[in-house]
Amino acid sequence: MGTFKAIVIDKTESGTKAALADFDEANLMDGDVTVAVGYSTVNYKDGLAITGKAPVVRRFPMIAGIDFAGTVETSSHPDWKPGDKVIHNGWGLGETHLGAYAQKARVKGDWLVRLPGAISARDAMAIGTAGYTAMLAVMALEKHGLTPDRGPIAVTGAAGGVGSVAIAILAKLGFSVIAVTGRTAEADYLKGLGASEIIDRKELAGPAKPLAKERWAGAIDAVGSTTLANLLAMTRYGGAVAACGLAGGMDLPGSVAPFILRGVCLYGIDSVMCPIDRRREAWNRLESDLDRSKLASMTREIDLSGVPEAAAAIVDGQVRGRIVVKIG
Ligand code: NDP
Repeated sequence: MGTFKAIVIDKTESGTKAALADFDEANLMDGDVTVAVGYSTVNYKDGLAITGKAPVVRRFPMIAGIDFAGTVETSSHPDWKPGDKVIHNGWGLGETHLGAYAQKARVKGDWLVRLPGAISARDAMAIGTAGYTAMLAVMALEKHGLTPDRGPIAVTGAAGGVGSVAIAILAKLGFSVIAVTGRTAEADYLKGLGASEIIDRKELAGPAKPLAKERWAGAIDAVGSTTLANLLAMTRYGGAVAACGLAGGMDLPGSVAPFILRGVCLYGIDSVMCPIDRRREAWNRLESDLDRSKLASMTREIDLSGVPEAAAAIVDGQVRGRIVVKIG
């Protein structure tokens, strides 16, 4: 066994520190599948873990990175054999289990999803956990019964990863999309992804009234806090909001009025412990319902050495769209 390159987070006297380092393969954690990692990506949670701005990491040293696409090297799991192309999202990777910013990862075979035939490993990580979460949110709105004729869908954190992919998917499905962004200078980018209207996030930043003018049939929210409270207050009768993020805060300063007077539903979206069947469904839907030329237009590529800088930028809300990390 040798060593491989990885972004390793260690505890220091003043907090934590992340750096590119050599990691001894003998120190990989238990798992029945070893994967040669081809690509990973930078999600908001990766940013929090690497900058130490939130207690994402539960064990030290930790290899950061919550998701990867790669090729099975060895397996004692019945579903996987060497050469299989796989995707991994969540399940505590980069939090409690050694993570994805590494040339090698050892994980449980039960955690893996087969890479859909039409999606390359690079595209899978251009989608990443952000895009897979966007798909889970769209699926929740569909399950609620929302169809394009019911009215527009608002997407908050629009220029970020979840937001960008959500806009592209919703537009391809025929929905009219209202992009809510703090970066109105990105209007052309957001319209290119399929948004039909752009609104400044300041409109949803003030204290929420119990009920406000009905503006959308549904929403996908990556922001939380007053933004989510306002989204709910502005959702049409019988509509639904899928909440997946906290980029603006973890609180929810709203009222029950939208639920009890307009029958609005609030769906919680979790990608980390999501059951495997729903993951497979989401990845199959991403194969068919996401325009890959739009995906390319929202993605840029870095290598492992660029991860710490990208991590700081995403926590500052400075990243547009998606960042792929080329590893293999
Ligand atoms: P990004 O940083 O790429 O996007 C977040 C966007 O939110 C920013 O681009 C910005 O969009 C907006 N934003 C940032 N700060 C604020 C603020 N203070 N107030 C209002 N809006 C703000 O992150 P991701 O898209 O990767 O993730 C988005 C959120 O979803 C995160 O909170 C993340 O933790 C969560 N998430 C949850 C998952 C789950 O399983 N539930 C899985 C994946 C992500 P703009 O500039 O357009 O306003």
